[in-house]
Amino acid sequence: MQKILFVAHCVLNTASKVVMYNSEEMAAEEALRRRFLTCALEKGVQLVQLPCPEFLLYGSRRWGHVSDQFDTPYFRRECRTMLSDILLQLKEYRSNNERFEIIGIIGIDGSPSCGVDYSCVGNWGGNLSDRDDLAEVIASARLTKGSGIMMQELAAMLKEEGIHLPMTGLFAGEPEKVMSLLK
Ligand code: SF4
Repeated sequence: MQKILFVAHCVLNTASKVVMYNSEEMAAEEALRRRFLTCALEKGVQLVQLPCPEFLLYGSRRWGHVSDQFDTPYFRRECRTMLSDILLQLKEYRSNNERFEIIGIIGIDGSPSCGVDYSCVGNWGGNLSDRDDLAEVIASARLTKGSGIMMQELAAMLKEEGIHLPMTGLFAGEPEKVMSLLK
């Protein structure tokens, strides 16, 4: 039996990530990512890569965002479009349950798109250069319980198909969440 995990795109490809400037936070996430990947490889767990909606829609030079900014009908529809072929693959693996077991879906906690248990919210928007309260507005962003927009859509698509799978996010503050899926 081959075990399969569906993982957020940047679990396998960190080049897709928005440029981050908090090196301590990034180092902690990278350490957990490596620990998780090493364990998955050692255990022979297969990894299917989800799309990165932010890279596809906004590219490599994008600013960081909060989930309020992605909570639009168009962004949600685009997420569904990106996920539709992935969902077909998932259903095919599930249809052959003598060979395959899908053990879950891993997102990136804190991401406005791919967070599962935590996302990021804030009252962001407008022209950056014309604000004199920019530092205050940036500081208003906060981690919040709940999923990012793409993971919300993925969960809804799975529900529509009657599929129940464990979903959690890679989060350096709670490393046991992803590691426990590999047990
Ligand atoms: S949108 Fe998702 S896959 Fe893309 S960089 Fe952010 S967390 Fe990773």
